[in-house]
Amino acid sequence: MRYKRGVVTVQNDTTDAMERAFATACRQVMGPDFEPECTSGIEGNHSAESGHYYGRAEDLGFTGRSRSTGKRKTIPETQRGRIASLTQGELNKEPSPAIYLVILESHHFHVQRQKDSF
Ligand SMILES: [Zn+2]
Repeated sequence: MRYKRGVVTVQNDTTDAMERAFATACRQVMGPDFEPECTSGIEGNHSAESGHYYGRAEDLGFTGRSRSTGKRKTIPETQRGRIASLTQGELNKEPSPAIYLVILESHHFHVQRQKDSF
């Protein structure tokens, strides 16, 4: 997982699980050469009580990189829904009572734990 410049993340069990699930989904769809990128953690402008501020939400980008060439690589629009579903599927395997939600937004995937963590 890469982190976009300026991104500040909290590494905890929640963000670890989100990043692991997203990386697994990306590997299945984009192949092992694709390295995904986190585009927002606790920094940035989110709604007032957003889970972003509490280490319960992260934004994961449509663009990553090729591990072999270092070039930027974008997840095709047609594959984004599939990546969101696969990420959700991986997170559904996490032990309850954690409830994760993956949302395909217009510029990134938003992943959160708990219902009200937008
Ligand atoms: Zn978000």
